[in-house]
Amino acid sequence: MAKLTKRSQDYSQWYIDIVTRAEMADYAPVKGCMVIRPWGYAIWERMVRALDDMFKATGHSNAYFPLLIPQSFLQKEAEHVEGFAPECAVVTHGGGKELEEPLVIRPTSETIIWAMYKKWIQSWRDLPLLLNQWANVVRWEMRTRLFLRTAEFLWQEGHTAHATAQEAVEEAERMLGVYRNFAEQWMAMPILAGRKSEGQKFPGAVTTYTIEALMQDGKALQAGTSHYLGQNFAKAFDVQFQNRDKQLEYVYATSWGVSTRLIGALVMVHSDDAGLVLPPRLAPLEVVIVPILKADADNAGIVTAAYRIAEPLDEKVRLRVDNRDNVSPGWKFNEWELKGVPIRLELGPKDLAENKVVLVRRDTGEKMPISQDEVVFKVPEILEEIQASLYKKAKERLEAGCHQAGSYDEFKKVLDEKGGFVFAPWCGSRECEARISDETKATIRLVPDGAEECPACMRCGKGPAKRVPFAVAY
Ligand SMILES: [Zn+2]
Repeated sequence: MAKLTKRSQDYSQWYIDIVTRAEMADYAPVKGCMVIRPWGYAIWERMVRALDDMFKATGHSNAYFPLLIPQSFLQKEAEHVEGFAPECAVVTHGGGKELEEPLVIRPTSETIIWAMYKKWIQSWRDLPLLLNQWANVVRWEMRTRLFLRTAEFLWQEGHTAHATAQEAVEEAERMLGVYRNFAEQWMAMPILAGRKSEGQKFPGAVTTYTIEALMQDGKALQAGTSHYLGQNFAKAFDVQFQNRDKQLEYVYATSWGVSTRLIGALVMVHSDDAGLVLPPRLAPLEVVIVPILKADADNAGIVTAAYRIAEPLDEKVRLRVDNRDNVSPGWKFNEWELKGVPIRLELGPKDLAENKVVLVRRDTGEKMPISQDEVVFKVPEILEEIQASLYKKAKERLEAGCHQAGSYDEFKKVLDEKGGFVFAPWCGSRECEARISDETKATIRLVPDGAEECPACMRCGKGPAKRVPFAVAY
């Protein structure tokens, strides 16, 4: 098997090598699109299941809205059309005829959903309306990268309607909390949380909340956003309800989403030069048992023992016995390492004679012989340990990747030499934000709650300023 590109050689190629060689995704015939292969899709299914449970536990139901949206719908909300029009794919023909009105392939579904909410919401009794949909969307991106930015991607989009602003703000914050828990507890990925600046918020939102993660190359990645939309979409689609005082009022809205981009984040946060490293909770397989088979020998005893060890464990973890006899044990070890299976159990003739197996941790490479009788409780314990240890390591990296800068010169120097999140004073103006990002490629990732007050902006010198994290982002 050819070696993977090392992170230190070419981080970007290392990432592509892992995604393609671990058979997570491949390039599609249409530029910018990807095919998600079974191993990548199985990780997505794990993510979907966990998130969907969390959405249902917070009172949401799933629904499905159409892929095609009348072009005029997108034009109803001014900021929204400005934000999305350049990257929309438009259908102009159907059934061999030019359409009377072109149809947009959804880049996001606020407009079609609010057109329907107009039919469904009349009274305060119809509220709150808490819907989510799992869907694909299309955004015609020029520069694409597997999972991280593709023209078509899979995601979920929550769209909720509320009777009061306060309730809608609470919903937007609650869903950011759900994303935060998912990132930390399932992805083992620590994050920074806060609000987007005016320049970075979602087109049509009053407030965008975000979680931001740090990749191993010092770049930031936006991992999930939740928007308080105020009455913007209700006004654009004329969705009013009769409140408890029998007055007509526009409905308050939120929307929130995460996408297959999370798989890209997962790859970049934990993986190493041998391949993918997966947190056990999201791994399609948590354990692979490899009986070490000898060519021209009677391997029946070893194979039987492997299945005997697997049987009680099978109820507790996702596992596979790799009894293929057309590839060598070494080849299998490499393959499962590349695919990031958290634990490998090796079983050779000597181990069998001693009633042992050798447990190998993917995250540390540590090998430990354990008694076959211990496997059934040891393995789940070690999986927990791996999950916790991956989070701890990533958390230490995030903390080490947060830097401070006072002056603009210092800011540029730290950004250039260390990367990561550079916390620096900013006056709050869009002009300074745009200049800093033009001059350094770093953007304001978020404004933390309770950001430190500073006397002067590093770019224009005006005050008061707030200390906010800048980073170069994916
Ligand atoms: Zn300024």
